[in-house]
Amino acid sequence: MQRFDVVVVGGGPAGAVTARIAAEAGAVVLLLERRTRIEEPSACAGLISPRTLSVLGVSDACVVRRPRGVSFHAPGGGVLSVRTTTDRALVVDRSILESELLARARDVGVDVRLGATATGWRDGVVRFEGAASEETAVGAVLVGADGPESQVAAWAGLPNAGSLRALQVEAESADPEPDGVCVYVGHLIAPEFFAWSIPAQAGCTRIGLAVSDLIDPAPYLDSLLAQRFPNHRIVSRIEARIPIPSPRRTTADGVLLVGDAAGHVKPLSGGGIYFGGLCARVAGRAAARAAKEPHDQTEHLLYYEDACRALIGPETRFGATARSIRDALDDDDWSRIFAILNHRDLLALVAERIDLDHLRHMVPHLLSRPRLWRPLFALWDIVRVRTREPGGIAGPHDEFL
Ligand SMILES: Cc1cc2nc3c(=O)[nH]c(=O)nc-3n(C[C@H](O)[C@H](O)[C@H](O)COP(=O)(O)OP(=O)(O)OC[C@H]3O[C@@H](n4cnc5c(N)ncnc54)[C@H](O)[C@@H]3O)c2cc1C
Repeated sequence: MQRFDVVVVGGGPAGAVTARIAAEAGAVVLLLERRTRIEEPSACAGLISPRTLSVLGVSDACVVRRPRGVSFHAPGGGVLSVRTTTDRALVVDRSILESELLARARDVGVDVRLGATATGWRDGVVRFEGAASEETAVGAVLVGADGPESQVAAWAGLPNAGSLRALQVEAESADPEPDGVCVYVGHLIAPEFFAWSIPAQAGCTRIGLAVSDLIDPAPYLDSLLAQRFPNHRIVSRIEARIPIPSPRRTTADGVLLVGDAAGHVKPLSGGGIYFGGLCARVAGRAAARAAKEPHDQTEHLLYYEDACRALIGPETRFGATARSIRDALDDDDWSRIFAILNHRDLLALVAERIDLDHLRHMVPHLLSRPRLWRPLFALWDIVRVRTREPGGIAGPHDEFL
């Protein structure tokens, strides 16, 4: 049985970054990834902010598209378009991104095992199945970076994040907006979340949606494809979960969770690569220290949880509240809101200042322009009515905070 300081289960972005940072901090690290090939299609639209690349510590080799705007589509047919002239968002190829992340982890000495599925953990011993046989390894710290349905969380008695059901296809199609991202809102489109289309490699569009856990997303996606993409040809189709809301605790004795396993996901959009990357950097350092200083292990793990709260807490709370408001709106509200927001100065300001990772930073910009107060008050009037309705706004979903 081999001994490691840190064993990471999951070789997605959060696991790969955690493993690399832990190894850079001097730990001996094993990373187990159940996929045998990283090239398999992944459940991700691949839309990230430019800063995410530096947070993850990778080059821009994975970037396949630099969208120049976003259009929001209301159920009644209204459209709001925000055009940008600089890189506000990038579309990446996940397999190129993950291959580079794993290569960088290997470069600093991480023992990366593909085709290795962790099957159990007890008293510091991890069991895993490789291509030929079952093996075991001892790890002072176990990191659960195994995605939204984390087994590590279950083994450690930690709560799993709640989740939405997401369905996405890659389609060759005559995309109505080859350069832009489209967001479709409304209960008939995607109950309790939204749908998207994102231009990816030439001629290819990622079209998907997420809905509440209790609903089958397939009829909604079929209807969106038929209505908006009549000439599409599906290349791949994938169903997955988005872990919203987040779990309350992300550490236990000798164990920490990171990325989707920890619910490090933006509540409004479901995007998890940036939050997961930020927290993975802290996780790597904390795991290395916790392994080297067993007497202070609990302290290092609790520090990790606090640091993540400080890093992503304010934006998560903002996003959770915004999501509660969005979920309370009906299709008539959307039509009225689109009419209000269709304001030249407002859209220009959004185009100039929008930041995918820090949506709350938009608020002071909006409030600082007296010209925008009238539409903002009109907007607030709609939200206020919904806030007062019993059950209208549930309060932040996010128990992690
Ligand atoms: C449809 C969809 C679209 C999305 N679009 C975006 C987007 O545009 N932008 C964005 O930022 N985020 C997006 N997300 C979210 C994003 O994909 C996740 O937040 C991100 O992948 C989380 O990374 P992770 O490393 O925590 O987990 P994952 O990427 O899920 O990686 C977990 C890894 O663990 C491995 N694993 C699981 N169990 C075991 C085991 N027992 N043993 C060994 N290995 C195991 C899995 O094979 C997997 O490779 C989307 C999610 C969905 C579902």
